[in-house]
Amino acid sequence: MWAAPLLLPLSVAWLSTAGAQPFLLPTANRALFEPGGEERYFVGTVGKPWTSGTFGCVRSEGWQLHEGLDIRCLQRDKHNEPADPVLATAAGTVAYINSRPSLSNYGNYLILRHVIEGVEIYSLYAHLREVRPGLKHGDEVKAGEVVATMGRTSNTQQAISKDRAHVHFEFDLVVNEKFPEWYRKTFPTQRNDHGGWNGQNLIGLDPRLLLLEQHRSGAKFSLVEFIRHQTELCRVWVRDDHLSWARRYPFLVKPNPVAQKEGVVGYEVALNFNGLPYELTPRAASEVKTKSKYLLISVNAAERQQHPCRKLVLQKGGRWELTGSGQHLLELLTF
Ligand SMILES: [Zn+2]
Repeated sequence: MWAAPLLLPLSVAWLSTAGAQPFLLPTANRALFEPGGEERYFVGTVGKPWTSGTFGCVRSEGWQLHEGLDIRCLQRDKHNEPADPVLATAAGTVAYINSRPSLSNYGNYLILRHVIEGVEIYSLYAHLREVRPGLKHGDEVKAGEVVATMGRTSNTQQAISKDRAHVHFEFDLVVNEKFPEWYRKTFPTQRNDHGGWNGQNLIGLDPRLLLLEQHRSGAKFSLVEFIRHQTELCRVWVRDDHLSWARRYPFLVKPNPVAQKEGVVGYEVALNFNGLPYELTPRAASEVKTKSKYLLISVNAAERQQHPCRKLVLQKGGRWELTGSGQHLLELLTF
């Protein structure tokens, strides 16, 4: 049954007007900001510490990516089921609702679209008991508005236990608006139940780092600066004079007078460990020696060692190369 808790959204509503702090915590759990509060904020996987509920290469001894935060439940109903209201992290619109849990390991999930400092960013809330009844694609939501109830839905064999109940929360950027077409061409025999909202088309930012950075810097927080300040995993060349990522995230493009004068034929792109293109340098034909569509220019081996789980590049016979996943990412980026 749906019961809208009135106190919480009202009491947090004023926060959304505070300076450049666009993001609110997605539940009433605030232990993220309390010293030593991690155990009360994150839910680890079975038998593993809380760190396995954070973002990054935190699963399977560092070889499996967890692309969001698993945020611990605070409220239970009389059957001991999770009952926390899930709140819109920022003002935005409903981009996607999956209400057929059997179609995803995310179970019932909701994606909201936000435009902050001109940046199109998405928030995702998964394993929901239910999305707020009546909420539909295109609806506007306010920051802190109740959009769902926490649950433990999923299509995985091993169900999420009551004990481990949590909301899985992500911040994402969309790789390519033409994803469904690319997927049909690249994987003709595979189903795509979620269109452009397929996980392969979403690149997660670390929500813990983002929320802590916002908390620390207060009104000085800048989402643009946060995205710009990633650690480089590798640098690649992509031949694409109309890179959609450069059009959608123009603040990531570095000025290059040569390309500006002679015309752009492609971009040198810096990727973080999760494949996020966070710095793009346009290049002119006179600056490019290769004829290839993609080329791996350099790899930060220390970063690859520390965050190996996306497996975008690997070393073979002393030489670094792009893996299949690395190539897929660049194909999708330039599709
Ligand atoms: Zn999760």
